[in-house]
Amino acid sequence: MEAIKSKRETTWLTKEKRPIVIAGPCSAETEEQVIETAKRLKATNKMDIYRAGIWKPRTRPDSFEGVGVKGLPWLQRVKKEVGLPVTIEVANAKHVELALAFDIDILWIGARTTVNPFAVQEIADALRGVDVPVLVKNPINPDLSLWMGSIERLSKVGVKEIGAIHRGFSNRGEKFYRNRPQWQIALDFIRKMPEIPILCDPSHICGRRDILQEVGQKAMDLDFDGLMIESHIDPDNAWSDAKQQITPEVFGAMITEMVLREDFEDNPVLQSKLEYLREEIDHIDDELMNLLANRMKVVRDIGAYKKENNMTILQQKRWNETLNKAKNLAANRELSEEFIIKFINAIHQESIDQQEKIFKL
Ligand code: PEP
Ligand code: MN
Repeated sequence: MEAIKSKRETTWLTKEKRPIVIAGPCSAETEEQVIETAKRLKATNKMDIYRAGIWKPRTRPDSFEGVGVKGLPWLQRVKKEVGLPVTIEVANAKHVELALAFDIDILWIGARTTVNPFAVQEIADALRGVDVPVLVKNPINPDLSLWMGSIERLSKVGVKEIGAIHRGFSNRGEKFYRNRPQWQIALDFIRKMPEIPILCDPSHICGRRDILQEVGQKAMDLDFDGLMIESHIDPDNAWSDAKQQITPEVFGAMITEMVLREDFEDNPVLQSKLEYLREEIDHIDDELMNLLANRMKVVRDIGAYKKENNMTILQQKRWNETLNKAKNLAANRELSEEFIIKFINAIHQESIDQQEKIFKL
């Protein structure tokens, strides 16, 4: 590994200064749009680094694919005239070379590049011996190793400042999120690479404006180190990702509203453990629901049988037995008798209701 002597005075990707907030348009579109967005974002006092996509990895070929090299001097103006450090996405060695030639402060590797070890290695090779911070978005597929592998490739060539960005994972037809967050993967990342700062990109997770705040807040509550949020002076008319962009002023209000938790060193681990336990609870709840549904199916079969044979719905002896059995089971399982009586009564009531329906058929 080569030793790189840093000429930079600023460390951007650090766990000490939190949260790290990156904001800016999905794409650089025109010089005016780039400068105006930067000025208005800077005025909010709520962000640290300016982002803008120069080369856009688009799913379909006829979409806007970025302004390319001509946008790089616009970002130089943002640095000089607005006083913000700037970051762009790089997807190959040529992008790296151009970004460095135009003094881009921080590079990021997009989700569609992280999936490809050849591309990531090409970028890493272009960065050998270069002192520039790099952020790595998670791959579009939910593969933690691939994400970590990209970071390892950069680390191996000597990139010293590396961060990660959680931008969600592509989903099949689900409408709520544009990219499913699958928080568990990000939390596993934090557990496995605790020294790497991790930012959340609510814009690409949500794909819409109305839930940006809650997703950003969730990331803060899970002790992420920062946020990357897309902001545009005229969001509805943005040339890419129009639905998810917000004006600089809306961005400012959103960050102001966020509750930024304290930075406890071991917090990610604590939070990650809690998330595990909650997932376990969710699984158990699912099982409970399935068991209840199965129980009610049998109850309906019994209902049909009772109806056929002119038997009453309530069978007092049987009910007393069920109740006593439940009380005994509860006592051996750290469950209070009071709770179990309420619980079994509620189930019994629903069973009677379901059988009554069958009797009325
Ligand atoms: C972007 O940040 O505009 C972008 C293309 O993101 P991603 O790589 O997460 O899709
Ligand atoms: Mn975008």
